[in-house]
Amino acid sequence: MSGNETVAIICPNCAKPSAAVVVGRRKHDVADGVASFLWCDECDNGLVVWQELDLYFDARKGDYDLRLGTPHVWWPEVDRPLSAAIPQDLRDTHLEARKCFHATAYSATAAMVRKTIEMMCGDQGLSRGRLVDRLQKLSERGIVDARMVEWMQSLRSLGNNAVHAGGSVAKADARDALDLAEAILDYVYVFAKKFKDFEARQAVQSGHGPGAPIEVSELRPSRDEAEATQ
Ligand SMILES: [Zn+2]
Repeated sequence: MSGNETVAIICPNCAKPSAAVVVGRRKHDVADGVASFLWCDECDNGLVVWQELDLYFDARKGDYDLRLGTPHVWWPEVDRPLSAAIPQDLRDTHLEARKCFHATAYSATAAMVRKTIEMMCGDQGLSRGRLVDRLQKLSERGIVDARMVEWMQSLRSLGNNAVHAGGSVAKADARDALDLAEAILDYVYVFAKKFKDFEARQAVQSGHGPGAPIEVSELRPSRDEAEATQ
């Protein structure tokens, strides 16, 4: 099952389209699928993919057969790309936090997450004072809700502990910190705007906003209006 066989995939290591060479395969005993260890020649790195076994009709044989389906990357873990709506410097800092995590530097991850939160406050016009107070102001100004402030306060103290002497951060906490920071960035820069746009469209459709379509009946003043303007 190995040799010159390849799997077409976007390599998670180098992000390039690659005909990754199959080094080894193993069919799962229970699930209908196959795990393969592949090698990408583009970047000279390994990866593991999972492929379901799909039943298909082979016209040449005139019979049904099994074939390997779309490959899904199992390892290395693939990070979701951040939205371009998030300011570049915040994206860069978050990516740095992810890099720390993948390098198993969990305290550094927590410190970078805290930095991301602090930079976000600065971007929202809150660059002075203690971070604990600035986060509270984010809620008072309606930028985030109280629950999210609670998350950010926890990320702030996790980051504080990480940089203090002797402070260490567990892998699970670093992972959660990354995920929470990502959710906060999405909330503030992506979904808040999406909701604003949605509301604006709804207002236009219901005739309460600028650019609302004019109904024919609105072009003709009703009798009451006609009398009122006379
Ligand atoms: Zn590669």
